[in-house]
Amino acid sequence: MICIQSEGGIDRRITPVFVCDMCNEPITDIAIGAAVFRDRGHGEGELHTALHVHKGRCHKQAEAQLVGRTGGPWHELGDHLNDVVAGMGVTIRGMIGREVAWSAALTPDQHNELQGRISELGEWLREHGVASPLWD
Ligand SMILES: [Zn+2]
Repeated sequence: MICIQSEGGIDRRITPVFVCDMCNEPITDIAIGAAVFRDRGHGEGELHTALHVHKGRCHKQAEAQLVGRTGGPWHELGDHLNDVVAGMGVTIRGMIGREVAWSAALTPDQHNELQGRISELGEWLREHGVASPLWD
């Protein structure tokens, strides 16, 4: 699951974090997380739960809960996050654009230069056979 975590203090800064669906502790490093799901018995258009978990003991518990055994389907949490983002229509250009807008640091000319550089990156990746909706 995704939760909001407060750093407390006067600023009350909040940050979204993945929290393990098995042990309820934050997943603090994308490399130690997994998304576990069922891959059978799905009807067209049905929605099914994907559990976000720590690798290891929590991962095994999630597989047992969803498929009744260990060794079920799963994705690296980072790959799962990319799939979610791409599935929502977010692109690299969009993500960079949001961060740039928040910072308000670039001049209009720098913003135009950035758009060109992002386009060049997408073209370079496509030329090298790297296809993804993230840079379309
Ligand atoms: Zn856990």
